[in-house]
Amino acid sequence: MGSAKSNNRLLQGIGASPGITIGQVRITDRSRVVVIEERITAGEVPAEIARFKAALAKAKDELLQVKDDLAARRGPEHLYVLDTHLLILDDSMLTRETVAFIEQELVNAEAALKRTLARFKEFFAGIEDEYLRERSGDVEIVVERVLRHMVGQDQESLTDVTVEGKTIIAAHDLSPADILQIDKESVIGFVTDLGGKTSHSAILARALEIPAVVGLERITGELATGDTIIIDGTTGIVVINPDQETFRDYLKRKQHYEYLERELQKYRDLPAETTDGFRMQLKGNVEFPEEIPSLKGHGGEGVGLYRTEILFFNCPVPPDEETQYNAYATMVRAMAPHPVTIRTLDVGGDKFVADLNLADELNPALGVRAIRLSLRRPDIFTVQLRAILRASALGKVRMFFPMISGVAEIRTVKALLEEAKAELRREGTAFDEAIEIGIMIEIPSAVIIADLLAREVDFFSVGTNDLIQYSLAIDRTNEHLSDLYEPLHPAVLRSLKMVVDAAHAAGIDACICGEMAGEPEFLPILLGLGFDELSMNAISIPRVKKILRRCNKAEAEQLVARALTFSTAQEVLSFLQSEIAAHYADSFD
Ligand code: PEP
Ligand code: MG
Repeated sequence: MGSAKSNNRLLQGIGASPGITIGQVRITDRSRVVVIEERITAGEVPAEIARFKAALAKAKDELLQVKDDLAARRGPEHLYVLDTHLLILDDSMLTRETVAFIEQELVNAEAALKRTLARFKEFFAGIEDEYLRERSGDVEIVVERVLRHMVGQDQESLTDVTVEGKTIIAAHDLSPADILQIDKESVIGFVTDLGGKTSHSAILARALEIPAVVGLERITGELATGDTIIIDGTTGIVVINPDQETFRDYLKRKQHYEYLERELQKYRDLPAETTDGFRMQLKGNVEFPEEIPSLKGHGGEGVGLYRTEILFFNCPVPPDEETQYNAYATMVRAMAPHPVTIRTLDVGGDKFVADLNLADELNPALGVRAIRLSLRRPDIFTVQLRAILRASALGKVRMFFPMISGVAEIRTVKALLEEAKAELRREGTAFDEAIEIGIMIEIPSAVIIADLLAREVDFFSVGTNDLIQYSLAIDRTNEHLSDLYEPLHPAVLRSLKMVVDAAHAAGIDACICGEMAGEPEFLPILLGLGFDELSMNAISIPRVKKILRRCNKAEAEQLVARALTFSTAQEVLSFLQSEIAAHYADSFD
């Protein structure tokens, strides 16, 4: 290091999968196929359409082949992403639009497909939700595969990456199939020009624990194979050809990071218990079964929030009962013997799903979203209830409902649930007769009547992301208001207290599954308020557990009593920080 080559260029991208890694780069050609638009005659239209359809079929065969190879080599894990891509290939809109462009605009098939892609991208770009917006990347990857078949350009497979020592892959973009083909023994990280935090490739990198930085825009243009780079997958920083000082600095950081990770791993199998013997349930928020090994690896004792809307996102129509059942069953089996808490569809607001005919709303966050949508579409809701009930025969399942605002609503839900149960009984289909049901507390009205709602269900789960949004009237997606989004606002603290007190008075559990649950500095407050369960991102669990094991519940209760006397979020925060400095400082490194 530090040779003539060291230019120490620093690039900032998006940290997609945490960890620091240092190694030599190998650039893989994932550049876009260059398409030249050509005019065709009306007589050439059928041949162009046939060429397009043949390329579609080839792309599909190729993907099925990759899937078979991977299934044989590594088992069924993670393969659902490839199913997503197969679904895109089968998407009738992709075919319809491309054929229409060929017929109406009289352009060659490649250009027609590119125009279809541009339409898709335009559509996705207007979506607020980050996860959904990034699905555009999936369509792009699939379209590239088809284009390559049309222009006859092959692509090297990442299975072939057998270089000496350890390699970092740099590519314009990597498809989920690429990531799945990576051999972790020889590839220690990757960087890409494209991609975002919730792209499927990023999700897979996290699931496989390969450090990665994406969204670097032009990194492939700045690198040459053989360059040394440093990737910091936590901060999103990449250093090209580091000088000696930077190299040493990052080596130290890498060692420190790995030391902390190892230290935290020690907490994995220790009970989540305070010094005075209070046992807290620490669970994970998940969207894909691929996340379960990491959740278990971080010591999660179950799934506290399974966001099922993910299943509805990539489909032109809502998934049928069998598809949903298979997804829930996979999750339940993977998490066994621990419980899985399945939330029914929570779309609308900033989460959009094709074909649910959501009207344009002036105030989507206050519109037909979550349970309101399910109750307006009992046809879709009942399919989901049946699928969840059936999965409950396979292991411990709890079910809960988003955005409940009052008792009438939960009673309607329960009536539909009873009908679904009766139908399954008539059919002789197995389900857990004692399945527990709960509601998300995320609307102020639900807080105010928490005592009434507590009589209707078996548990509460507070969605602080929305509860803060609705209590303080702060749009959670509006970056201009983020300074007003205050989890420690006295109104939020009082709300949380009302919810826990009402739950406990009725003898039911109070859980919390908003982002607040995974923030270590809030732990003394949530513990002192009396929450029974915290559900968070898997990687937050060891840190929260470490602090929990040094806390004393009785002391945390006193801390909360003091915290509730302050008038502003800032006052509560200052008090909390001084308490942390005085009592738990060493737990927070
Ligand atoms: C919440 O609102 O806190 C929550 C967990 O639900 P979501 O973030 O999916 O709205
Ligand atoms: Mg919510």
